[in-house]
Amino acid sequence: MQELSHYIDGAQVAGTSGRFADVFNPATGEVQARVPLASADEVARAVDIAAAAQPAWAAVNPQRRARVMMQFVHLLHRDMDKLAEALSREHGKTLPDAKGDVIRGLEVCEYCIAAPQMLKGEFTDSAGPGIDMYSMRQPLGVTAGITPFNFPAMIPMWMFAPALVCGNAFILKPSERDPSVPLMLAELMEEAGAPKGILQVVNGDKEAVDALLDHPVVQSIGFVGSTPIAEYIYGRGCANGKRVQCFGGAKNHMIVMPDADMDQAADALVGAGYGAAGERCMAISVAVPVGDDTADRLIEKLVPRIEKLKVGPYTSGDDVDYGPVVTAAAKDNILKLVQSGVDQGAKLVVDGRDFSLQGYEDGFFVGAHLFDNVTPDMDIYRKEIFGPVLSTVRAQSYEEALGLAMDHEYGNGTAIFTRDGDTARDFAQRINIGMVGVNVPIPVPLAYHTFGGWKKSVFGDLNQHGPDAFKFYTRTKTVTARWPSGIKEGGEFSIPVME
Ligand code: NAD
Repeated sequence: MQELSHYIDGAQVAGTSGRFADVFNPATGEVQARVPLASADEVARAVDIAAAAQPAWAAVNPQRRARVMMQFVHLLHRDMDKLAEALSREHGKTLPDAKGDVIRGLEVCEYCIAAPQMLKGEFTDSAGPGIDMYSMRQPLGVTAGITPFNFPAMIPMWMFAPALVCGNAFILKPSERDPSVPLMLAELMEEAGAPKGILQVVNGDKEAVDALLDHPVVQSIGFVGSTPIAEYIYGRGCANGKRVQCFGGAKNHMIVMPDADMDQAADALVGAGYGAAGERCMAISVAVPVGDDTADRLIEKLVPRIEKLKVGPYTSGDDVDYGPVVTAAAKDNILKLVQSGVDQGAKLVVDGRDFSLQGYEDGFFVGAHLFDNVTPDMDIYRKEIFGPVLSTVRAQSYEEALGLAMDHEYGNGTAIFTRDGDTARDFAQRINIGMVGVNVPIPVPLAYHTFGGWKKSVFGDLNQHGPDAFKFYTRTKTVTARWPSGIKEGGEFSIPVME
C-alpha cells in the first residue's frame, strides 16, 4: 500500500507521529494509501521553515512572483490529465468534473498574475505643506489554509495562489480524504520557480489544525469545510489574534416560478443536484416550485431525467454522470437522512436506496433520490445532506418561496428560474444569500469576482478570490512623509489636521 508524505522544505517528508488515516478508492471501497497525520512538532517545523523562507520571497518584486504563477498555470495544463486522474481516484468524481476542479483553481492562478496591478498602493501628493502620504500593501508573513475533500485542487489554489503572489509563505493542511493532488500542486509550484518552504503541505487532522491555530507565527487562517468546524476554527483563530476567514456548509434553494422554461429548469436541477454526487457546496439541494401546477409539471419532467442518470466509476468513461461519495461513513449518513425523510412523511418519488453497481458492490455509490412534499421541519430540509438527494418544497406564492430561502440558516447560493425580469430583480435585491443565479443553477462567480456566502455559510468578512483575496493576504501600511527642507516650526502638541 502506498504511504503518502508531507511536503516540507521542498521535499517529500515521511510522517513521524506514527498516526495515519486511510485513503480510499471510493469506487471500489479499497484502502489505496495511507496518509500521515502530523503532530504539533511537525507543524512547528513547517512553520519555522516558512518563516525563514518568507522574507526573501516578499522581497522578490511582484512581477517576478507573477511570472512564477504564469509558469505554474503552464504546468497545470501540462499535467492536467495526471492531476485529474489522481483526483478522481481519491475523490470519486468523474474525469471531466475533476478537470473542472483543476481549471476552476487554475483560473484563480491566472487572475493572480495581475499581482503587480493589484498590489499597487495609493499616493497623495502634497497631502499637507511639504507632506506626501502613501499606502502600501505588505504580505502578512506565514499564512495557512485548511481545505475540504470536495474540491481538492480548486480550493487549495483559491488560497495559496493569492497568498503567494502577495509575498507570503503558505502552509496547506488539505483534507485527509484526498491529499495526493495538493501534494502534487506543491511540487509543481516549486518546479514553476517558487523557493523551497514557500508552499508546504502538512497532512493531518484536528491535531495539525489546532497546532496551526495556536502557533503565534501563523498570521492568517483560511478555512473551507462544514459549518461546525468553520465556527470552531473562526473562534479559536480569532481568539489567538489571527486574521481568519471560514466558509461553511450550504442548503441551496432553487425557486421555480410558474413562467419558467420547465425543461431548462429540470435540466438545471438534475445537473446541479446530482453532479459530483451532490458533494458541492454550490449544489442545489432544495427545489421550490411555486404553485402546485408548477410542482406537478416540474416533478413530471424531473423523474425520467433522474431515472436515466448513469452512476459509475470514473474509469468507465465520459458518459458517467456522477461517481461514488467519498467514504462509507458519508454513504451511511446520506441513507440515514433519506430514511428520516421517509419516516417524517416526505414522499420519496425516486428511490435510490437499493442502488448497487455490478462489480463495484463495495464502492460508496449512492443512487439518486427525489423527495416531494418536504416541509421545513424535516431533517432532510434542515441539514446539509451532501449527497445525490433533491428535496422539493412546494410553495404557494413567490413570497413564501423567497421566505423559505431567507429563513434557512445557510446562505451560500441560490437560484431563481423565471422569464419575468421584475421577479428576478426583486429576488436578487431582497435575498439574504451571497451568490445568486438567475436561470443559472450554480452561480459560482469567476476568478475576478469574489466567492462567499452569507449567514451560517461564512465566518469572517472578506470573500475568497477576486480583489478580496489581495486584501485578505496583505495588510495596509500608510506613510506620512515630510522631508527636512519642509517647514521647521518646532513641536506640535495637538493632533495634526491638514488645513
Ligand atoms: P470538514 O469540515 O469535515 O473538513 C474540512 C477540513 O477541516 C479538513 O481539512 C479536515 O481535516 C478539517 N477538520 C475536520 N474536523 C476537524 C476538527 N474537529 N477540528 C479541526 N479540523 C477539522 O468538511 P468536508 O467534509 O471535508 O467538506 C464538506 C463540507 O465543506 C460541506 O459542508 C460543504 O458545504 C463545505 N464546503 C463549503 C464551501 C464553501 O465555499 N462555502 C466549499 C466547499 C465545501
